[in-house]
Amino acid sequence: MTETKEQTFEFQSEVKQLLDILVYSLYKNKEVFLRELVSNAADALNKMQFEFLTVPDLEGKDQELKVTIAVDKEHNKLVVEDNGVGMTREELVENIGTIAHSGTLDYLKRLKDSQAAGQVDLIGKFGVGFYSSFMVAKEIHITTRSWQKDGKAWLWKSTGESSYTIEEVEKEGRGTRIELLLKKDEREFLETYRLKNIILKHSKFVPFPIYLDGEKIERREAVWTQPKSKLADKDYADFFKFFENTQEEPETWLHLSSDAPVQFHSLLYVPKTSFELLGLMKEEPGVDLYSRKILIQKGSKEVMPEYLRFVKGIIDSEEIPLNISRETFQNNVRIDKIRKHVVKKLLEHLEGLKDKERAKYLHIWKNFSKNIKEGAVNDFDNREKISQLLLFSSSKTSGDELIDLKQYAGRMAEGQKEIYFLGGADRGTIEKNPALEIFRKKDYEVLFLTDPLDEFVLDHLHEFDKKAFKMAESADIPLEEKAEAADEASMKDAENLVTYLKAIYGDQVQDVKISRRLVDSPCLLLNPADGPSVQMEKIMKMVNKDYQLSKRVLEINPGHALIRKMVALHKTDPAAPMLKTLALQLLDNMKLREGILSDTEATIARIQQIMLDAAAPPRSDAGGPA
Ligand code: ADP
Repeated sequence: MTETKEQTFEFQSEVKQLLDILVYSLYKNKEVFLRELVSNAADALNKMQFEFLTVPDLEGKDQELKVTIAVDKEHNKLVVEDNGVGMTREELVENIGTIAHSGTLDYLKRLKDSQAAGQVDLIGKFGVGFYSSFMVAKEIHITTRSWQKDGKAWLWKSTGESSYTIEEVEKEGRGTRIELLLKKDEREFLETYRLKNIILKHSKFVPFPIYLDGEKIERREAVWTQPKSKLADKDYADFFKFFENTQEEPETWLHLSSDAPVQFHSLLYVPKTSFELLGLMKEEPGVDLYSRKILIQKGSKEVMPEYLRFVKGIIDSEEIPLNISRETFQNNVRIDKIRKHVVKKLLEHLEGLKDKERAKYLHIWKNFSKNIKEGAVNDFDNREKISQLLLFSSSKTSGDELIDLKQYAGRMAEGQKEIYFLGGADRGTIEKNPALEIFRKKDYEVLFLTDPLDEFVLDHLHEFDKKAFKMAESADIPLEEKAEAADEASMKDAENLVTYLKAIYGDQVQDVKISRRLVDSPCLLLNPADGPSVQMEKIMKMVNKDYQLSKRVLEINPGHALIRKMVALHKTDPAAPMLKTLALQLLDNMKLREGILSDTEATIARIQQIMLDAAAPPRSDAGGPA
């Protein structure tokens, strides 16, 4: 459908709300509107450059691709123009009247009043750049003509309230001209020196020339292709800010160049903020693929594995053909080689930080540990490198201190062959777990897993430095400690209690055993050899209600006073009702501790019975008057 006459459209309701947030509350730093307009212009130029290189015989090839900024003080007008791809009428409606990124508005709303609003530069992140111009303009006109042959020109007009109009107009040549009619208070943006400063601050790496009132503004070459010796930290930081549309410093970066086996340059950054951790969004892939400084694919899925989506930057290789199609991206041998090389170097860089710049690495860990753990599970080729990056608290750390597996392995006790771990909701809970008793006694360190992901990760890794990971609650840990019973005769009595308990519990447990590991507690529920932990099973049950918890092994401590009393009672009166009551309660106590007790009513009734017995008057009074 084409309409030549002016036609009025309503903004998508999300756009209206977005405009309200942008214009009235969210954004204090208004100057970024220019950064956004220039970056949109540069994108359009990039796309045009790409068309020139891939579509044969296009007109206007020798024209300079550029951004032009002009000021018209008399009419309070600021004009940003490009000779990029331009937009058709449909594209205008599609791109300017709607928000592309679903969920954007939600993120912005949530952030609006939160602390992060001031700290996080949102506009660049969420692709709402164009609208930010309404922070300074009371009316905006977009005149645009698509590069496609016979493209007509269109004028889009809006005051940023609820609607916009589109009509057909005349325009020389392809590209987009954006005219801002500035608000009264925003006339500073008509001053050339002010505009120049903003461009130098935010846009000096734009890969196309920018003219301001006829004067060409100095810009920097593609940083990633320059030799490291020519670049200072500030250059790297500035480029990051430009690349990510942010005012935040990068956490760390890695600049690589290689000639063989494949030629490429890459410049990769780890940011200081995790948008995923803030609960804002799942990060899109953040590394762009270039060939000879020309953008081939933004946020390429092929050059970085998914778990490294927090890494931002550029990979540029001459060996990648410009007209490579999306399908041939996948399984492209050269891209594979580059990815493998770059990922390896990046993981090594992170490991270097972990060993040499701990504070920096701890910050990275705080932000991106979930991604690193995801990599430990998914990136089979780099499993060893990634396992070097994992951090844990343990039975030998205190406070916030974290250790890595190399540290653990380096201080294992004599005779210790495995790496032990124990999961739980938090440090306090894990420390109270009786399963730890024997490890304390033997001076074996135990890793504390407080993140449900951790156990999953160790399960996938199997081992570190040829030492197997072993759950401290596992029933099959070889422990040569002697059970704490006094002599052979009383051991025999304890064995008899075990037989009795097995009969009472039936199929509630997999087995009952005399413990060789308990010191202070009467009993302990253990996992059958190599079975999943209770924490893990609880997660599985949350996902699938029908999931059956595996049967566990109950170990009793014959040295504990309660067990000794039960052994004695069993010896004198194996049919005593109280013995059965105690036996059932013993198991229920353990289930309660683990949060897997299902029949609470029966347990409460039994506890009340025990209380009643405890409160009964001594036998000698039994015959007294009621
Ligand atoms: P973003 O640039 O992050 O997608 P914007 O709101 O700034 O978000 O722009 C929306 C869309 O409008 C762009 O993605 C692009 O398709 C189109 N657009 C904006 N400016 C231009 C321009 N100068 N030339 C061509 N298309 C443009």
